[in-house]
Amino acid sequence: MLAPLAQRHDPLASLNPEQLAAARHGDAPLLLIAGAGSGKTLTLAARVAQLVLDGADPQRLLLLSFSRRAAQALSHRAGQMLQQSLGLRAAPELPWAGTFHAIAARLLRQYAANIGLDQNFSIIDRSDAEDLMALQRQALGLAASAKRFPLKGTCLAIYSRCVNTQAPLAEVLRQHFPWCLDSQEPLQRLLRAYVAEKQAQATLDYDDLLLAWQQMLAEPTLAAHQAARFDHILVDEYQDTNRLQAAILQALRPHGRGLTVVGDDAQSIYAFRAAEVRNILDFELSFGPGVRRLTLERNYRSTQPILDASNALMASAGQGFAKRLWTDKAASERPRLVRLADEIDQARWVADTALARREQGIALKSQAVLMRTSHHSAALELELARRNIPFVKFGGLKFLAAAHIKDLLAVLRWGSNPCSRLAAFRVVQLLPGVGPAGARRVVDALHGAADAAAALQSLPAPPGARLEWQALVALIGGLQAGGTDWPAELGAVRAWYQPHLQRRHPDDHGLRAADLAALQTLAEGYASRERFLTGLTLDPPEASSDLAGPPLLDEDYLILSTIHSAKGQEWTAVSVLNVVDGCMPADLAAGSAAELDEERRLLYVAMTRARQHLDLLVPLRFHVSQQHRHGDRHLYGGLSRFVTPEVQALCEALSSAPAAVPVAMGDAPGLAQLDLGARLRGLWQ
Ligand code: ATP
Ligand code: MG
Repeated sequence: MLAPLAQRHDPLASLNPEQLAAARHGDAPLLLIAGAGSGKTLTLAARVAQLVLDGADPQRLLLLSFSRRAAQALSHRAGQMLQQSLGLRAAPELPWAGTFHAIAARLLRQYAANIGLDQNFSIIDRSDAEDLMALQRQALGLAASAKRFPLKGTCLAIYSRCVNTQAPLAEVLRQHFPWCLDSQEPLQRLLRAYVAEKQAQATLDYDDLLLAWQQMLAEPTLAAHQAARFDHILVDEYQDTNRLQAAILQALRPHGRGLTVVGDDAQSIYAFRAAEVRNILDFELSFGPGVRRLTLERNYRSTQPILDASNALMASAGQGFAKRLWTDKAASERPRLVRLADEIDQARWVADTALARREQGIALKSQAVLMRTSHHSAALELELARRNIPFVKFGGLKFLAAAHIKDLLAVLRWGSNPCSRLAAFRVVQLLPGVGPAGARRVVDALHGAADAAAALQSLPAPPGARLEWQALVALIGGLQAGGTDWPAELGAVRAWYQPHLQRRHPDDHGLRAADLAALQTLAEGYASRERFLTGLTLDPPEASSDLAGPPLLDEDYLILSTIHSAKGQEWTAVSVLNVVDGCMPADLAAGSAAELDEERRLLYVAMTRARQHLDLLVPLRFHVSQQHRHGDRHLYGGLSRFVTPEVQALCEALSSAPAAVPVAMGDAPGLAQLDLGARLRGLWQ
């Protein structure tokens, strides 16, 4: 409902002239490149609001970002601005806001009939994809070959690099996996088999979502049809896109008209997922002379001493657009460089500091502890638990990786997609007395059956599991028929699973059942089984807060986050754990110049999250769990090499311990038919 005009806010009122120019910019391709905290996301949101106020249809705006949190932050801000400027009671929906992967999944389902894709295709996460790769590796006899063949995780990483960089296998091996060069021919066979198997199972992995979207757009009529659905495409965190994503944008907006991208090359931290910082550096080349480039240099987030230290950090970096951030937020407090004896000391110091700051009126929620890798906070988590300091951790929790959660999801996935051998293989093994060999026989017998339940029914029940077999047939039959409402359906699956859970984990004391109950709560937020499965696979809950009910969310809690998950966020106080060589940069041995640059940018992202207080913590002795043959060990590290004397000179040195050192599209007329399967297979010939 519209409010009286007097209550409406101009979404552009608070913007500075440069931001205003970006928000009001017309149709020509726009590159907004600016440092951290300069209001890029805010400006993008304001631009969306202004476009809608000027008459754009929110249904025809495509808002893309790399991570789920970044996408949510953008659509949330834009929605709020629209709500305020239109005087609405609730923020309006922006239906096409999401990650590249989530939008790809939606479009692929809508155009499935045009591209020869089963509309019920399943999406599998990285761990399921590894399992599928392992099965192919085994089937081709590569696991047993005398020569050392790359492990399943490496094979998937190689596949992922090929897809995301659009580079041939040989080149990817030469550049990133030189120790696998000997295995090029069998790898080629394996990847071909992996692609064929996914097609047989109507299954796409993460990387396929982008690849299939890009392939779909390579067909001109389909590209034109999709391009015509959107008047504007706006991308946040553009520095984290890879070649495939750039190719998708190029296909949707060949001349860049209506395309806005926003980013900061200094914050590109996803090269390990094939992000291509050159995308942002070369944007003008890709979209021609019509591109308008705008920059923002004023920072609204941090104090000048925090910016000075961040600028000094980046002064030693390689390629990039030069920018110096400034603010009018003067402050006398400099970032602190805190030397501590070890991780235990570090944990105590963080807990003490968090409580002291809360006494000064800074809520725990406005304080974050950032780390390079999730397990760096193990000691801190113990300390916080011991002192009853509530916290929420982002970027660490592997909720979906738990076997019992995967079991339940596999049942749902099989019920939706009878071709999914992977799901069937897992589910059948839940029955008593059925192992991998027995499951394989069942799955082989089912192969190709469109009605999995009827096919199951015709098979002999495994010995000793007749009743359980009947129950499974009935369950899958029910799911296939789809007669039950969502999320009641999940309730039926849980009821079926309960005895199996008890049998398989007799000493569980209800913990797993509690996880399954949490899954049920989560399910209530989705309209259908398909949305639930897609949503959960693409945007897995990453923090326990995502799963907790409202009571916990009402309380105050400290934020723990990996730096990767902290993108785009800000807090009044930030502590960065383990600013030591060996953690930042992570791996001393394998650091190429490009990798070192990426590690430096990570520290830059961490430091620029802070509004007023920034602490860089340097424990002298710290624990690393290595994947290497040495196993876990303690390292004596020194201050991170990134904290150069120039950066140190801008920090206050502290030492805590004296000893311490340092739309249904299927029938749309005029569209060509594309055989997506053949196209994807063709890439591996
Ligand atoms: P990052 O690079 O970390 O993603 P960003 O450039 O996207 O940062 P924002 O998150 O949009 O920056 O803005 C940083 C902070 O500055 C936010 O709190 C935002 O509300 C505030 N801000 C941005 N522009 C202005 C402005 N013109 N006036 C007041 N506050 C502003
Ligand atoms: Mg941002």
